[in-house]
Amino acid sequence: EQTAELVSRLLRDIPDFPEPGVLFKDITPLVADGPALAQVCEALAAPYRDAGITTVVGLEARGFIFGTAVALALGAGFVPVRKAGKLPGATVSLDYALEYGTARVEVHEDCVTPGERVLVVDDVLATGGTAAAAAELLEQVGAEVVAIEVVVELAALAGRSRLEGREVGALLTV
Ligand code: 5GP
Repeated sequence: EQTAELVSRLLRDIPDFPEPGVLFKDITPLVADGPALAQVCEALAAPYRDAGITTVVGLEARGFIFGTAVALALGAGFVPVRKAGKLPGATVSLDYALEYGTARVEVHEDCVTPGERVLVVDDVLATGGTAAAAAELLEQVGAEVVAIEVVVELAALAGRSRLEGREVGALLTV
């Protein structure tokens, strides 16, 4: 089975989560299926086998699931980007705009050594705000952001336009 088909089959639509009017794409059935999880993580890693990736960055929280697996597949380390107040060490943070209000993402200030080549991994690309903020933050601490890779891209929310000039990969675009 093609990976895009597999992802499509195992994604579950949850209406009105986390709030009324939102149709949430739930990846937990995909993660719960052993062969599917392996195929998806392999497909995420495949384009970057020879890209000299030293670090995979996962975005809280579902990006941790896929990101760690991709890091193992690439022989790279793993660095978490977290929501405000979760990381124990000294951090750098960035605020970004949501539809209503703002959100903050953080990394440890010493999470990479300058020049490290990072791949940013998350489950879903929606408006692109989170991925754009994460990429900017990583550049602030000296990383080179090679690409942003997601399992599912929600095309209607135009995340790619918020990431203009960056390489963006998705296993399935809906
Ligand atoms: P963005 O900043 O691109 O609007 O939102 C992306 C963040 O919110 C990602 O970290 C992603 O995990 C989460 N997200 C937004 N919409 C969905 C969705 O429908 N399904 C899942 N699984 N995550 C979502």
